Amino acid sequence: MSQADPKRWRRDFPLLSVRAHGQPLVYLDNAATTQKPRTVIDTISRFYKTGNANVHRGSHALSAQATVAFEQARDTLARWLGIEDSATLIWTRGTTEAINLVAHSWGRQHLRSGDLILLMQSAHHANIVPWQMLAAATGARIEVIPLLADGDLDREAYHRLLEQKPALVALSHVSNALGTIYPVAALCREAKAVGATVLVDGAQALPHFDLHLDQLGCDFYAFSGHKIFGPTGIGVLWGRRELLEAMPPWQGGGEMIEQVSFDGTTYAGLPFKFEAGTPNIAGAIGLAAAIDYLHGQDRMAMEQHEQALLQHALECCGQIKGFRAVASGSHRVSLMSFELEGHHQQDVAHWLDHQGIAVRAGHHCAMPLMQALGLPGTLRASFAFYNTQQEVERLALALDQLVQSAH
Ligand code: PLP
Repeated sequence: MSQADPKRWRRDFPLLSVRAHGQPLVYLDNAATTQKPRTVIDTISRFYKTGNANVHRGSHALSAQATVAFEQARDTLARWLGIEDSATLIWTRGTTEAINLVAHSWGRQHLRSGDLILLMQSAHHANIVPWQMLAAATGARIEVIPLLADGDLDREAYHRLLEQKPALVALSHVSNALGTIYPVAALCREAKAVGATVLVDGAQALPHFDLHLDQLGCDFYAFSGHKIFGPTGIGVLWGRRELLEAMPPWQGGGEMIEQVSFDGTTYAGLPFKFEAGTPNIAGAIGLAAAIDYLHGQDRMAMEQHEQALLQHALECCGQIKGFRAVASGSHRVSLMSFELEGHHQQDVAHWLDHQGIAVRAGHHCAMPLMQALGLPGTLRASFAFYNTQQEVERLALALDQLVQSAH
């Protein structure tokens, strides 16, 4: 039987003991970025204190050591994702850069005027704008897969759109604005059956559950280190080897070449072809430390605890006059998007901030979703395994006080 231990988990995260506006901080903005366990902070600090050198090019021991640590970090990520071929994991700055890489490299190579790109109504801007730029450059066209009222994907509409044989389907694994978990394995299978290439934005999935990428059936998967308890400025693009091998590099420079002369340049193999310039070495090593940390915990217990937090939040807040949860689908991560009738979201966020409670208000980089919902934005409380039931109750109490004070 799994055992949730948020008290112990919290002790691993130094930032969780700071105060905000004189109160113990309640950090409920985990979908924006997560806090870092001490092991990540220490690993980065140790690297700069005792291991810092550039990678892949040194003729001295420190550089060799940094190279080993950097490549071991890639192997750690690969093992965690169930991938045997770690050269198919490309380091990027994050999800945004990973998607831009695919749009530039694969997109410009493959898409032609009139080709169809399918996007999701609930997509983050990072999974919209690079495709719009690609469409503008190639003449490809974009269609949007609509949502049902509860936030789930409209499968019938999806099937109808697939009949048009899209060249590319760009999916979100989990909506950052609603928390909805989409059935990506089935969606990938259906898209692959009509010959589409499929990219999945996993930025909001991996913070909440582990997965084996090869069982998902997509062609590309993108995510950010800072949302899975790792540092900022590092992320991953995973792609199928045969696709990555056929793709041209998207940035040129050092690290990504095999041979350079003024008569012509040949490129390095995977993964270096897509990693021009000095990489974020400390970031990669720090991210591997975050994965090692997660690996050492009972992930099932974490997941169950997060789901219990979401249920508790929906129950406690559901009692408050004017509270409305924005998504209601049954498959959701621990993220509560909501409105408080008669109160502007920014005012509510401001009030909560003064009570020491950090949430996010606004469009959550999903403006087309907000347009479809007819909302200017929502409030978003996003939970991680280190949050507690007491923190949920502090959120509910603060919201109730705001509502009471307005009457
Ligand atoms: N996709 C989703 C679903 C996100 O939630 C985010 C960040 O909020 C991104 C993409 C962009 O991630 P990053 O800013 O780390 O590149």
